[in-house]
Amino acid sequence: MTVARHLTILGSTGSVGISTLDVVARHSDRFYVAALTANYSIDKMLEQCLRFKPQYAVMLDKTSAEKLKNKICAAGINTEVLSGVESLEKVASLPEVDIVMAAIVGAAGIRPTFAAAQAGKYVLLANKETLVMAGHIFMDVVKKNNATLLPIDSEHNAIFQSLPRNFTGDYSTSGVRRVLLTASGGPFRQTSIAKLNDVTPKQACAHPNWVMGQKISVDSATMMNKGLEIIEAHWLFNAAPKQIQVVIHPQSVIHSMVEYVDGSVLAQLGNPDMRTPIAHALAYPERIECGVTPLDIFKIARLDFEMPNFTKFPCLGLAYTALETGGSAPAILNAANEVAVESFLKSKIPFTAIPSMIKQVMQVIEQKEIFTLDDVLEADSLARKAAYELLDTLSQKES
Ligand code: NAD
Ligand code: MG
Repeated sequence: MTVARHLTILGSTGSVGISTLDVVARHSDRFYVAALTANYSIDKMLEQCLRFKPQYAVMLDKTSAEKLKNKICAAGINTEVLSGVESLEKVASLPEVDIVMAAIVGAAGIRPTFAAAQAGKYVLLANKETLVMAGHIFMDVVKKNNATLLPIDSEHNAIFQSLPRNFTGDYSTSGVRRVLLTASGGPFRQTSIAKLNDVTPKQACAHPNWVMGQKISVDSATMMNKGLEIIEAHWLFNAAPKQIQVVIHPQSVIHSMVEYVDGSVLAQLGNPDMRTPIAHALAYPERIECGVTPLDIFKIARLDFEMPNFTKFPCLGLAYTALETGGSAPAILNAANEVAVESFLKSKIPFTAIPSMIKQVMQVIEQKEIFTLDDVLEADSLARKAAYELLDTLSQKES
């Protein structure tokens, strides 16, 4: 009999969190849900607690935790309800936990994700912002603590699957030449630059192939998602910026590719469904069924590829610049992007102001070397402050 592996899901009420629980529910003999976490969504969390009966449920927000506690008590289940960032860190590093799914959105995910790596867990990384903000520090923590890092982002999971097993990041001896990072192009691939100024949050969140949380959906529309993924690929696979080629592939069937020196190009294909990379990482190195519809290549019939458009999507160029600048630049890029996306979602700025806001924040905030997680968090908060000030100036100009 195999012992069920204990799992903490950070951000269990989100899109990736829900897909993770869907896979886990199909394999209750393999996985035991030890802890679930969320921000405010009490009802979804209660529903998940009733179904999976975790040992812990953490709500970041204290008031939400109190309300959840009452409901859990009334339901008579044995789940301990906690709150605050320290509790997120606690459940990410519980001694009995083997696997941590890091699926909180944005910079808020960084501290618990670090805690999981520090505790030497299997870290299933969906929260790309951790690598964007603190790439080398996070990779060092993973190495030092013998943690295992498995990418959940579909492109990085595809690259991981297409690289030689146990790839160490050495391009000269492994025969790997570069990675081809695919992108759907988002909902505005065919929209003219002139029309981009007027697109609405609803249009931006209507991704053609993937159903995802709001923030990553807007990132896909601006192509900042691909920008963040370039930085993510750099850290995960030790790829220099020029070894990462973005390829627009509107069908989202090839999830990314690896090019070798002998001319081979290996790719991972599948229907666009996050349960595939999630199942791959949960059971690694085994394979498990996860409810994904098999790919019908006859129905797909054709696959298209285009070069990315850096003029229409300036976020791509901003991300390459941040990666090449290094230090705190990617953390500044990420923070400014989070504020800009949130402002766009609240209809405070137009879509096209997202890249210009990020560019201005990157110009205003001095880039520094980073040595610790605190250095990263300081850069993050300075950039957020600058972005909010810029937002104030913009709204004063308007009124
Ligand atoms: P989502 O918005 O659907 O869910 C986010 C989760 O994080 C929720 O459970 C929410 O309660 C929690 N959360 C939000 N703010 C928090 C905070 N301040 N503190 C603690 N918890 C908080 O997001 P998502 O689409 O599932 O994305 C999660 C992460 O996975 C992101 O980093 C995203 O880039 C990455 N990712 C998502 C997809 C996808 O298909 N959705 C694909 C690839 C990568
Ligand atoms: Mg992705």
